[in-house]
Amino acid sequence: KMRKLIAGNWKMNGLIAQLDDVEEIASKIAIYPEVDTALCIPSTLIRPAAGRFPEMAIGGQDCHMASSGAHTGCISAIMLADAGARLTIVGHSERRAAQGESDADVCAKALAARSADLSAIVCVGETEAERDAGQAEAVVLGQLAGSLPDEATSEWVSIAYEPVWAIGTGRIPSIEDVAAMHGAIRNALTSRFGTDGAAIRILYGGSMNGDNAKSLLAVANVDGGLIGGASLKADKFLPIVEAAA
Ligand code: 13P
Repeated sequence: KMRKLIAGNWKMNGLIAQLDDVEEIASKIAIYPEVDTALCIPSTLIRPAAGRFPEMAIGGQDCHMASSGAHTGCISAIMLADAGARLTIVGHSERRAAQGESDADVCAKALAARSADLSAIVCVGETEAERDAGQAEAVVLGQLAGSLPDEATSEWVSIAYEPVWAIGTGRIPSIEDVAAMHGAIRNALTSRFGTDGAAIRILYGGSMNGDNAKSLLAVANVDGGLIGGASLKADKFLPIVEAAA
Protein backbone atom coordinates (compact mmCIF):
# COMPACT_ATOMS: atom_id res chain seq x y z
CA LYS A 1 0.00 0.00 0.00
CA MET A 2 1.22 3.46 -0.91
CA ARG A 3 2.22 5.78 1.91
CA LYS A 4 0.20 8.97 1.81
CA LEU A 5 1.93 12.33 1.40
CA ILE A 6 0.49 15.44 3.00
CA ALA A 7 2.38 18.49 1.76
CA GLY A 8 1.81 22.10 2.74
CA ASN A 9 2.19 24.96 0.28
CA TRP A 10 2.65 28.21 2.13
CA LYS A 11 2.64 30.25 -1.11
CA MET A 12 3.82 33.85 -0.51
CA ASN A 13 3.23 33.70 3.23
CA GLY A 14 5.75 33.50 6.04
CA LEU A 15 8.30 35.76 7.69
CA ILE A 16 11.05 34.67 10.05
CA ALA A 17 8.54 34.88 12.92
CA GLN A 18 6.55 32.07 11.28
CA LEU A 19 9.42 29.64 11.87
CA ASP A 20 7.57 29.14 15.16
CA ASP A 21 4.68 27.65 13.14
CA VAL A 22 7.09 25.39 11.26
CA GLU A 23 8.45 24.30 14.62
CA GLU A 24 5.01 23.49 15.98
CA ILE A 25 4.18 21.43 12.90
CA ALA A 26 7.59 19.73 12.84
CA SER A 27 7.35 18.77 16.51
CA LYS A 28 3.90 17.22 16.14
CA ILE A 29 4.10 15.30 12.86
CA ALA A 30 6.27 12.70 14.60
CA ILE A 31 3.00 11.37 16.08
CA TYR A 32 2.11 10.10 12.57
CA PRO A 33 5.13 8.13 11.34
CA GLU A 34 2.94 6.29 8.80
CA VAL A 35 2.33 9.52 6.85
CA ASP A 36 4.91 11.32 4.70
CA THR A 37 4.76 15.06 5.28
CA ALA A 38 6.43 18.13 3.81
CA LEU A 39 6.21 21.90 4.01
CA CYS A 40 6.90 23.97 0.90
CA ILE A 41 7.74 27.39 2.27
CA PRO A 42 9.09 30.66 0.90
CA SER A 43 12.70 30.42 -0.29
CA THR A 44 13.80 32.90 2.36
CA LEU A 45 12.75 30.49 5.11
CA ILE A 46 14.23 27.28 3.71
CA ARG A 47 17.72 27.57 5.18
CA PRO A 48 16.62 28.50 8.71
CA ALA A 49 13.77 25.97 8.73
CA ALA A 50 15.87 23.09 7.41
CA GLY A 51 18.61 23.97 9.87
CA ARG A 52 16.37 24.16 12.91
CA PHE A 53 14.01 21.28 12.08
CA PRO A 54 16.04 18.59 10.32
CA GLU A 55 13.26 16.04 10.90
CA MET A 56 10.85 18.03 8.70
CA ALA A 57 10.96 17.69 4.91
CA ILE A 58 11.26 21.29 3.72
CA GLY A 59 10.53 22.19 0.13
CA GLY A 60 10.47 25.07 -2.33
CA GLN A 61 7.48 26.15 -4.42
CA ASP A 62 9.18 26.54 -7.80
CA CYS A 63 12.62 26.29 -9.37
CA HIS A 64 14.21 27.53 -12.55
CA MET A 65 15.03 24.94 -15.22
CA ALA A 66 18.65 26.05 -15.41
CA SER A 67 21.13 25.43 -12.60
CA SER A 68 22.61 28.94 -12.72
CA GLY A 69 22.92 31.94 -15.01
CA ALA A 70 21.51 35.31 -15.98
CA HIS A 71 17.98 34.88 -14.63
CA THR A 72 17.43 37.81 -12.29
CA GLY A 73 15.21 36.98 -9.34
CA CYS A 74 15.00 33.25 -10.06
CA ILE A 75 16.11 30.37 -7.88
CA SER A 76 17.53 27.11 -9.21
CA ALA A 77 16.83 23.63 -7.91
CA ILE A 78 20.43 23.23 -6.83
CA MET A 79 20.09 26.42 -4.77
CA LEU A 80 16.99 25.00 -3.06
CA ALA A 81 18.89 21.79 -2.31
CA ASP A 82 21.90 23.77 -1.12
CA ALA A 83 19.63 25.63 1.32
CA GLY A 84 18.36 22.32 2.72
CA ALA A 85 15.23 21.62 0.67
CA ARG A 86 14.37 18.02 -0.13
CA LEU A 87 11.62 18.73 -2.66
CA THR A 88 9.93 21.41 -4.70
CA ILE A 89 6.52 22.07 -6.21
CA VAL A 90 6.60 22.73 -9.97
CA GLY A 91 3.83 23.95 -12.27
CA HIS A 92 1.42 25.26 -9.66
CA SER A 93 -1.62 26.79 -11.40
CA GLU A 94 -0.84 30.18 -9.84
CA ARG A 95 2.51 30.15 -11.66
CA ARG A 96 1.08 28.72 -14.87
CA ALA A 97 -1.36 31.65 -14.83
CA ALA A 98 0.73 34.54 -13.47
CA GLN A 99 4.16 33.56 -14.80
CA GLY A 100 2.87 31.95 -18.00
CA GLU A 101 4.56 28.61 -17.38
CA SER A 102 3.94 26.07 -20.13
CA ASP A 103 3.83 22.29 -19.79
CA ALA A 104 7.30 22.16 -21.36
CA ASP A 105 8.60 24.64 -18.77
CA VAL A 106 7.13 22.55 -15.97
CA CYS A 107 8.66 19.39 -17.41
CA ALA A 108 12.10 21.06 -17.59
CA LYS A 109 11.72 22.30 -14.02
CA ALA A 110 10.85 18.82 -12.80
CA LEU A 111 13.99 17.46 -14.47
CA ALA A 112 16.03 20.26 -12.92
CA ALA A 113 14.69 19.25 -9.53
CA ARG A 114 15.69 15.65 -10.23
CA SER A 115 19.21 16.73 -11.21
CA ALA A 116 19.52 18.48 -7.85
CA ASP A 117 18.33 15.35 -6.00
CA LEU A 118 15.02 16.98 -5.09
CA SER A 119 11.63 15.32 -5.27
CA ALA A 120 9.08 17.15 -7.39
CA ILE A 121 5.36 17.71 -6.93
CA VAL A 122 4.05 18.31 -10.46
CA CYS A 123 0.75 20.22 -10.43
CA VAL A 124 -2.11 19.96 -12.93
CA GLY A 125 -5.72 21.15 -12.84
CA GLU A 126 -8.53 22.61 -14.91
CA THR A 127 -10.21 26.01 -14.61
CA GLU A 128 -13.89 26.32 -13.88
CA ALA A 129 -14.61 27.34 -17.49
CA GLU A 130 -12.81 24.22 -18.72
CA ARG A 131 -14.84 22.02 -16.38
CA ASP A 132 -18.10 23.70 -17.40
CA ALA A 133 -17.19 23.04 -21.03
CA GLY A 134 -16.75 19.33 -20.28
CA GLN A 135 -13.00 19.61 -20.92
CA ALA A 136 -11.66 18.95 -17.41
CA GLU A 137 -10.26 15.50 -18.08
CA ALA A 138 -8.80 16.39 -21.48
CA VAL A 139 -7.11 19.49 -20.03
CA VAL A 140 -5.66 17.66 -17.05
CA LEU A 141 -4.42 14.67 -19.06
CA GLY A 142 -2.92 17.06 -21.62
CA GLN A 143 -1.06 18.96 -18.89
CA LEU A 144 0.09 15.68 -17.42
CA ALA A 145 1.42 14.38 -20.74
CA GLY A 146 3.40 17.57 -21.31
CA SER A 147 4.56 18.29 -17.76
CA LEU A 148 5.64 14.86 -16.59
CA PRO A 149 9.11 13.83 -17.77
CA ASP A 150 9.70 10.37 -19.25
CA GLU A 151 12.10 9.85 -16.33
CA ALA A 152 9.29 10.22 -13.75
CA THR A 153 9.21 7.51 -11.08
CA SER A 154 7.53 7.18 -7.70
CA GLU A 155 10.97 7.63 -6.16
CA TRP A 156 11.01 11.33 -6.87
CA VAL A 157 7.72 12.44 -8.40
CA SER A 158 4.26 13.08 -7.03
CA ILE A 159 1.41 14.56 -9.03
CA ALA A 160 -0.98 17.10 -7.51
CA TYR A 161 -4.42 17.40 -9.07
CA GLU A 162 -5.66 20.84 -8.11
CA PRO A 163 -8.82 22.12 -9.78
CA VAL A 164 -8.13 25.86 -10.11
CA TRP A 165 -11.67 26.75 -9.02
CA ALA A 166 -11.23 24.80 -5.78
CA ILE A 167 -8.07 26.64 -4.71
CA GLY A 168 -8.70 29.04 -1.84
CA THR A 169 -12.45 29.06 -2.47
CA GLY A 170 -13.77 26.58 0.07
CA ARG A 171 -15.33 24.64 -2.82
CA ILE A 172 -14.29 21.08 -3.63
CA PRO A 173 -15.36 18.70 -6.40
CA SER A 174 -17.81 15.94 -5.60
CA ILE A 175 -16.28 12.70 -4.38
CA GLU A 176 -17.38 11.15 -7.69
CA ASP A 177 -15.56 13.82 -9.69
CA VAL A 178 -12.40 13.40 -7.59
CA ALA A 179 -12.55 9.63 -8.09
CA ALA A 180 -13.07 10.03 -11.83
CA MET A 181 -10.15 12.43 -12.30
CA HIS A 182 -7.71 10.51 -10.11
CA GLY A 183 -8.73 7.31 -11.88
CA ALA A 184 -8.16 8.94 -15.27
CA ILE A 185 -4.72 10.16 -14.15
CA ARG A 186 -3.82 6.66 -12.94
CA ASN A 187 -4.93 5.15 -16.25
CA ALA A 188 -2.81 7.66 -18.14
CA LEU A 189 0.19 6.80 -15.95
CA THR A 190 -0.37 3.09 -16.56
CA SER A 191 -0.53 3.58 -20.34
CA ARG A 192 2.67 5.59 -20.31
CA PHE A 193 4.78 3.86 -17.64
CA GLY A 194 3.22 0.41 -17.20
CA THR A 195 1.59 -0.94 -14.05
CA ASP A 196 4.66 -0.72 -11.82
CA GLY A 197 5.73 2.65 -13.18
CA ALA A 198 2.25 4.05 -12.58
CA ALA A 199 2.62 3.73 -8.80
CA ILE A 200 3.26 7.47 -8.56
CA ARG A 201 1.40 9.30 -5.82
CA ILE A 202 -1.52 11.43 -6.96
CA LEU A 203 -2.33 14.15 -4.43
CA TYR A 204 -5.55 16.14 -4.32
CA GLY A 205 -5.31 19.90 -3.69
CA GLY A 206 -7.86 22.69 -3.37
CA SER A 207 -9.64 23.72 -0.15
CA MET A 208 -8.64 20.56 1.67
CA ASN A 209 -9.13 20.95 5.42
CA GLY A 210 -9.61 19.02 8.61
CA ASP A 211 -13.31 18.57 7.90
CA ASN A 212 -13.12 17.18 4.36
CA ALA A 213 -9.71 15.46 4.41
CA LYS A 214 -10.95 12.10 5.64
CA SER A 215 -13.49 11.66 2.84
CA LEU A 216 -11.14 12.99 0.13
CA LEU A 217 -8.27 10.78 1.27
CA ALA A 218 -10.53 7.73 1.28
CA VAL A 219 -11.16 8.05 -2.47
CA ALA A 220 -9.42 5.47 -4.66
CA ASN A 221 -6.20 6.82 -6.19
CA VAL A 222 -6.04 9.78 -3.81
CA ASP A 223 -2.60 9.26 -2.31
CA GLY A 224 -2.31 12.44 -0.30
CA GLY A 225 -2.98 16.14 -0.33
CA LEU A 226 -1.41 19.45 -1.25
CA ILE A 227 -2.65 21.95 1.29
CA GLY A 228 -2.58 25.74 0.98
CA GLY A 229 -4.31 27.85 3.60
CA ALA A 230 -4.74 25.03 6.09
CA SER A 231 -0.99 24.32 6.14
CA LEU A 232 -0.01 27.62 7.74
CA LYS A 233 -0.89 26.64 11.31
CA ALA A 234 -0.36 23.39 13.19
CA ASP A 235 -3.94 23.27 14.50
CA LYS A 236 -5.25 23.30 10.90
CA PHE A 237 -2.57 21.14 9.28
CA LEU A 238 -2.26 18.35 11.86
CA PRO A 239 -5.89 17.18 11.55
CA ILE A 240 -5.26 16.62 7.82
CA VAL A 241 -2.15 14.60 8.59
CA GLU A 242 -4.17 12.63 11.13
CA ALA A 243 -6.86 11.96 8.52
CA ALA A 244 -4.17 10.39 6.32
CA ALA A 245 -2.87 8.13 9.10
P1 13P B 1 -5.90 25.93 -0.62
O1 13P B 1 -5.71 24.70 0.23
O2 13P B 1 -5.66 27.21 0.13
O3 13P B 1 -7.18 25.89 -1.38
O4 13P B 1 -4.72 25.90 -1.72
C1 13P B 1 -4.51 24.74 -2.45
C2 13P B 1 -3.25 24.89 -3.20
O5 13P B 1 -3.17 25.64 -4.16
C3 13P B 1 -2.08 24.12 -2.75
O6 13P B 1 -1.05 24.16 -3.69
